[in-house]
Parts: sequence; C-alpha cells; structure tokens
Amino acid sequence: MVPVPAALSVQPVEPSKGPQLELRALGHDASSLDAAVRALGVALDATRRTSAKEDLRVSQKVAHDLMIRAEQNAFTEVANAVFHIEDALAAMADGELQSNDATWRQIDAAYRAARAACELEAAPVPSSEAAARRGILLVIHDEGLAEEIARAAARRKFAVSIAGNASEALAMATGASFNGLVMDFDDDTPEANRTLASSLRELLGSRHCPMIVVAKSPTYAQRLAAAESRAAMVMPKPLAGDKLMAMLESLDVRDRPERPRLLFLSQDEVEAARLSALLAPLGVSMNTFDEREQIVETLDATQPAALLIDRNEDNSEHVCRLVRAIPRWRDLPILVRVKGESGRLVAYDAGADDALSERCSDRELIGRLRVRLERTRVFREQSNRDPLTGLLTRRAFTESMQARLAEAERAKRHLSVCFLDIDRFKNINDTYGHAVGDKVLAGFGALLGSRFRLPDLRGRWGGEEFVVAFYGEWAESAREILSRVMAEFSSMTFDGGGPGTFRVTVSGGIATFPVDGQNLDDLVLIADQRLYAAKLAGRDRIRI
Ligand code: GH3
Ligand code: MG
Ligand code: MG
Repeated sequence: MVPVPAALSVQPVEPSKGPQLELRALGHDASSLDAAVRALGVALDATRRTSAKEDLRVSQKVAHDLMIRAEQNAFTEVANAVFHIEDALAAMADGELQSNDATWRQIDAAYRAARAACELEAAPVPSSEAAARRGILLVIHDEGLAEEIARAAARRKFAVSIAGNASEALAMATGASFNGLVMDFDDDTPEANRTLASSLRELLGSRHCPMIVVAKSPTYAQRLAAAESRAAMVMPKPLAGDKLMAMLESLDVRDRPERPRLLFLSQDEVEAARLSALLAPLGVSMNTFDEREQIVETLDATQPAALLIDRNEDNSEHVCRLVRAIPRWRDLPILVRVKGESGRLVAYDAGADDALSERCSDRELIGRLRVRLERTRVFREQSNRDPLTGLLTRRAFTESMQARLAEAERAKRHLSVCFLDIDRFKNINDTYGHAVGDKVLAGFGALLGSRFRLPDLRGRWGGEEFVVAFYGEWAESAREILSRVMAEFSSMTFDGGGPGTFRVTVSGGIATFPVDGQNLDDLVLIADQRLYAAKLAGRDRIRI
C-alpha cells in the first residue's frame, strides 16, 4: 500500500466489512432519504393548513436540510426537486409569492417529483454501491502521482482508494464499487495489466465505471492493452491531477448521469411503446411525435440528444434537411430507418448520421444510438467547460443564466450575480511566470467548482475573471456565502517555484435581479462597477 496522508486515503468501503453488513448499512442510506422526503411531505401538509409565516420557515428549513443531504449523497434529481420546494416556501415566507392553490399545486408537483426521483435514484443502484458514491480506485505504484491525483480528487470531493499492486487492487474492489478507475500501466507488463483490468471490471460489476490508463510514454502494446481493457482514455505521464480529474468527470463519473432524450418521429404507437421500453433501462428517455409540421416546436420543447425517424415516414430526407438547416439543431444526431439500399443513400445525402435498414436489429439500433449520444455528450461537455478551471465557459454560463433569469422572473424570485476578479494577478504572472499564474486560476476554479449548491452557476468569464450566480439569494446572503469561500482561497498558499510561498486575494461585485437590472447585460454592468469600487477601496472585498 502506498503510504499517503490519512486524509487522502479515504476508502469508500472497507474491504474487511462483510457484504451483509454493507447491505444493511447502505439500505438504510437510501430508505432514510426516502423517509426524510416523506417527513417533508408531512411538514408541508401542516404548513399548507395554516400558511403562517413561522410554519413556512420551519418547512423551508426542513426542505433546505433535505436538499443539502440529497446533494451530498449525489441524489441529484431529489436535490433539484426539493430545491424548488425550498424556493417556493422562502418566497411565500418573504411575501413574494402568494399562498394559493396554484402555488401549492406547484409545490405538490415538486414533492411528487422528489418522491419519484428518490425511488428511481435509489432503486437501480445495488445498495452495496451507495457508500462508494464518488469513489475512485487508483492502481498506482508511484507514490507521488498517487498523492497528486488523490489531492485533486479530494478537492472535487471524490473519495479515493489507492492500491500499490494487483492484489491490493483486487482486495479493494471486492464487494466495493467505484465510479472511476485509474490504472498506471508502467507498473507491470501489458499482459498483466490487461488481466488485472479485466478482473477488476468483473469485480466492479456492470455499472458504468470509466477507466483511465496512465503511462510514461505509452507504447503501442500499452495502448492496445488499454483498448482491450476498454479504457476510455490513455494519458501520458507526467500528469496534473486536476487534468486527470477533469477528464474523469468528462467521462461521466457522476452517479446519476443525465438521462439523454431521444425524439422519435413515428405514427406507429405500438413501435413507439416498444422502443421506449427497450431504451428505458439504458437510461435513455423517449418522446414520440407524429406531426412533422411541429418539428421545430417539438425539438425546442423536448431538447433531444438525438432524433430517430421511423421507417414508415415518407420523404424522411426532407425532415433531415429541414433540421440541418436550423442553426441551433444542425449538430443533432439524426438516425433514420430506411427501406432498401436507395433509401440509405438518400438519407446520407440529406445529412443523416445513420441510415438503418428496416430489418436492423434492436442491438444495432442501440449500438449506433449509444455511440451518437456519447459523442454528443462529450462534445457538449467539452465545449461548455473551460479546460483550465473546469467551470462553465462564458457562453455556457450566459446560456444557463438566461434560463435561470427567465425562471426567476416567472417565479418572482431574485437572483444575485457576482463578478470576481483576482487581485494583482498581473504581478503573479510577472513575478512567477505564466504557468504559476495558471495554477492560481486552476486552484480558484477548483474551489468555486467544489463549493456552493448544485443550482448555483459558476463560470470563468475570461482571463482572471469569474462569475457566480445564486438563485433565490439577495446580495447580502450571496456576499456572506462568497466571503467564506474567498477566505478559504486567501488562506491557500501557492508555490512560486522559488523559496517561500505566496497567497492570493480576490475582489467582487454583486448585482441582484430584479432590483439592479432586468437582464444579464445590465446585471453584469452593475456587478462590474461594484467590482471596480471594491478594487478602488483596497481589494480583497466584495461590494454590493
Ligand atoms: P487588479 O487587482 O486590478 O485586478 O489587477 P490585475 O493585475 O489582476 O489586473 P489586470 O487586468 O491588469 O491583469 C490581468 C492579467 O491576467 C493580465 C493577463 O495577462 C492575465 N491573464 C489573462 N488570462 C490569463 C491566463 O489564462 N493565464 C495566465 N497565467 N494569465 C492570464
Ligand atoms: Mg481583470
Ligand atoms: Mg485582476
């Protein structure tokens, strides 16, 4: 076992614990969350009867605690649903939202969604896997590299188990489960690595567990062994932990990957039901529509990850061309079921990604769909994330922010946008060099990325400027939340390459919707002005 600081060597499941014990401990985990959701239901019923401000606050607190708990245990959909409940209760308590039938209907809907998500999120995961949430197994002999990765993983709140050799790795994987696997192929021969990888896969079961192989300068034999081991990625050493973690995250190490949606154009209800049932276990949800005149509206309403056109649709090539001609949908993967060889050629000519014969097996359909969906997901993930900091890019932030603003307007909620700018960053670059400057940016990005609640948007606006948006928070509370993170950041020390270390501070400005502005441009302008005021006032502070 590689000796690592105790804090870094967190094992998701203790190998010495028998499977029986685990099952009991973990069954408790899923069902206790469900019980907590039901307890919220009881609190809501009581609050609905009185609608008194104190009762609303009590329920809001119950919802808030539950949301945090669901979030910490990676019950993402439960957390999101409960977030809406908390939000509505807060708005009612603040007198911003009326306590009427319409409001309670919305709360009931969110509550039902939370219950359903609780069942859905708890059910498909065998209970022995719950404790291993966000766990990564490293099979690495090199102590320095193991520590580097473990540190980056800890920053992103992943538990890490480090095995220094094959037998340790096998012992750790027995009865446990991990969301990601990193294997150092320099430790052994390609043949031995392949054997170990396949034994680990068997032990870890069928659950999605992407593997990254690292090697000093990967040889063809190592790459081939990695491919045979179904590694998702081969990365050369030396390797920055943050880079590897960003890659693992882009390979979807989350417990509950988003459910991509397939849009099916078909008149055949029986086939639609059959396909829907076929795809559900793969985590793909499906919407069917039969009016092609409505295609633009349907695409926008359902936001699918792929479009499938049924074999009985005449002139499906026109639909293909039509979709390709819509700027925002021109990248959409389109699969068409066609009749005969000529149908295939016509479909490809019109821009279809896959033309499937009408006799195409379900296995082929699923295989092709999977490849398309995965490609799209990786592409979106990459284009939405800033590679250095792992935060949203300015474009992705702006897009999400527009949606959040529209939601705030509908729900009559407020929303605070904070502009953050690293203090005297040019000095850091000038004194220690650009590479050290980049490390500071990556460190601040990792901190922003690993703090706050799920619905809080975090992005890199450009250079050394960052943006955070807090839905439902006034400027004062946003400042309080941010001040804690800024204090944490300013206590971090950076290594400039020479003797001693240095610290970095950040300044910020906050603008709140709707009081400071109605749209993103206005809010950004005000937040930027306040940031400027914070700089003038001496930096290391947030102005509201
Ligand atoms: P202030 O406290 O007023 O914000 O001073 P400052 O030095 O931080 O502000 P200024 O805007 O003058 O400098 C920002 C610097 O950030 C200039 C630019 O070269 C540097 N920069 C922008 N993007 C990157 C990057 O990706 N990496 C590195 N290392 N530096 C960057
Ligand atoms: Mg700046
Ligand atoms: Mg600056």
